Amino acid sequence: MLVSYTTQQLSPTLLTSLAQVLSSEAPLRARVSKMFELLHQAVPFHDGRLLYQLESLDVHITTPAHWALPWDDGQTQQVIDTCTTIQSTDDAEMPIVTTLSVPVVWATQLCGVLELRAEGIDVLTPAHQVFITALIPLLAAAILSEEDTTQALTTHPQAQTLTQRQENALNHLYEEFGTPYALNEFLTLLLRWSLDATGAEAGMISLVDHDRAQLVAQVYQGYPQEPLSRDMYGEPRRRWSWDMGVSGEVARSGRPLLIRDVARNSHATLSTPDIRAELAVPIFVDGRVVCVMVLDSPRSLAFGDSELSLIQAVCDTAALPLRRALWYQQTLETSTQLGQVFSSIPNGLALLDNQGCVLRHNPAWLGVWRLNGNKLNGSFHVPWDLVPHLLPRLQDPLGLSEFCAEGQSNPTEVHTTMVILHDPHQELHLLSTPTRDSLEQLTGRLWVVSDLTREREADRLKNEFISIVSHELRTPLTSILGYTELLLARDFTRDEQREFVQTVYDQANHLSKIVEDLLGVSRLDAGKVKLNLWAVSLRQLMAEMTVQLSPHLSSRHRVVIDVPQHIPPAYVDRDKIKQVLINLLTNAVKYSPRGGEIMLKVREASTLPPDHPEGQFLVLSVHDQGLGIPEDDLPHIWDRFYRVDNSNTRRIGGTGLGLSITKALVELHSGTIWVESTVGEGSAFFFTVPIAVDF
Ligand code: ADP
Repeated sequence: MLVSYTTQQLSPTLLTSLAQVLSSEAPLRARVSKMFELLHQAVPFHDGRLLYQLESLDVHITTPAHWALPWDDGQTQQVIDTCTTIQSTDDAEMPIVTTLSVPVVWATQLCGVLELRAEGIDVLTPAHQVFITALIPLLAAAILSEEDTTQALTTHPQAQTLTQRQENALNHLYEEFGTPYALNEFLTLLLRWSLDATGAEAGMISLVDHDRAQLVAQVYQGYPQEPLSRDMYGEPRRRWSWDMGVSGEVARSGRPLLIRDVARNSHATLSTPDIRAELAVPIFVDGRVVCVMVLDSPRSLAFGDSELSLIQAVCDTAALPLRRALWYQQTLETSTQLGQVFSSIPNGLALLDNQGCVLRHNPAWLGVWRLNGNKLNGSFHVPWDLVPHLLPRLQDPLGLSEFCAEGQSNPTEVHTTMVILHDPHQELHLLSTPTRDSLEQLTGRLWVVSDLTREREADRLKNEFISIVSHELRTPLTSILGYTELLLARDFTRDEQREFVQTVYDQANHLSKIVEDLLGVSRLDAGKVKLNLWAVSLRQLMAEMTVQLSPHLSSRHRVVIDVPQHIPPAYVDRDKIKQVLINLLTNAVKYSPRGGEIMLKVREASTLPPDHPEGQFLVLSVHDQGLGIPEDDLPHIWDRFYRVDNSNTRRIGGTGLGLSITKALVELHSGTIWVESTVGEGSAFFFTVPIAVDF
């Protein structure tokens, strides 16, 4: 028998209590027993049973008091087969018993049969059946939560109905509840459904933050103006204290609130002036209010008891899927946070499965190997797909393959290795550690790749610095000490004394130059070097400088200055350019042990090297006929502490700082420095400085 009814016929309070009982955390048996107990308040039945694993009709829960009469399993089977409610009366024996069997349906799935027996004929009226029908979705949700499955046992041809419209809407909603949703998706669905079902114009669902006594607006719809104000960063203010507003009151009390007309209600602290009627209902999960749904309307008396009971029933049924959505959301947040950490870490990270297939890697992973993403599209395998890409650069290709094999043969161990790559030079530290799932089963490995090139370079520089500086300081200091000891030990001729003091003076000068260079480097590093720019005549500057340097030039060297008469002045810091020229000239002298010609040249630049800053420039150059520089060393002579390592230069001595300071000073003037050199023939250093255009 099909029953049609309206929500006005429901007893909202009892239905709410039943909903709370059925959605509680207690075992199904306890929940159903309590349901039977409460049901006695509305339906005059003698005993009842709920069957829920329908393949065998013997999984059931019965009321504590029941007749010794057997149940009519034939009728039960008929309900299962037809998925319709059946009521029958057996008057063959005493007492006369009426049995009502109702299919328990979730969306289109039959998940149980509820049966009630009463003594007499016509005792279970259509009004009672209406009540039972309203209970069915709650009961279905309870069974499914117990079975933890939404598996259909059989499909019913036609669900029991509220009004046809409500039945369709509810069925649709319950169907939706069955699919796992992200929190906002689920709440949007719930809100939309509630707006449709009640005719409310607007509504909002907020989460309750019990720890901070706040509400957090989660979804809203239909308000003529944006209901959330903005904070100083332009972000919507989603949180507010639960001491404010109707939803706050519902969150604190856990009781629904129906404001039929704002004008006649003391709760009239509504945020939007257009609202005349408001309905606010709590959603409980595990006995705690987790959400508050507020429905608003500009029409007074828009909501009554039927809307209240309908929304309450829906909110009660929403508890289970809401709990699932909250879990899902929590997992989503955790995985989003971990994902952010994974992708923002500067080390290369890759998760491999047990076979060495890369399941996931962060953006730094490709960067750290200097691999273009397209080269390793889709899934790739370590080492099969990785090593071939790196082969031209790997110092020890076998080493990397062996490292991977080690991970496979000892899957529980942590392994580390260093990988050296050429062109460009890279030193990578690899750490491979086993990964496990929640059951502690090995799932593969996590590779952490760190680029230590800079650290290693810094270490190398530090060691070179210590060895060069200590060597360079010790040599002049030894001769200063030796000569002064000699002078103090006995008397020498005046000429001898003069010669010794001159040596002491030269070595002290050399020491001072080394200290000057070291200080110069640290000043440049700290950005403390400021230029004092003037228009400077280079002819004059060069003449001055060669006079200053003449005592250091041996008779084997001939210095030629080639500066055209009408060369425009340079716009430079006189002292700094002098320092540049002195560095280049002393190198030319130092690295031309057999003597020869040293030429200083200035020309107006007709062409500039590629990437040179725009403008008018002069090119200054220092040419020598000395040792020359091997081609492999040419790119490195500008590096700090770099010295060409051969027997000649080792004998000559130096700190390897001069050219790096020279380069930095030229670049401070927006110029560029470069070198052309042939071993055994000589070198030519060129650098540009800007022309002083207004002179
Ligand atoms: P230092 O002369 O103190 O070693 P520099 O930075 O001035 O340091 O020079 C770096 C290296 O470049 C030198 O060690 C030397 O090998 C090489 N070099 C510089 N100038 C010349 C030159 N004119 N001829 C040959 N080699 C040179």
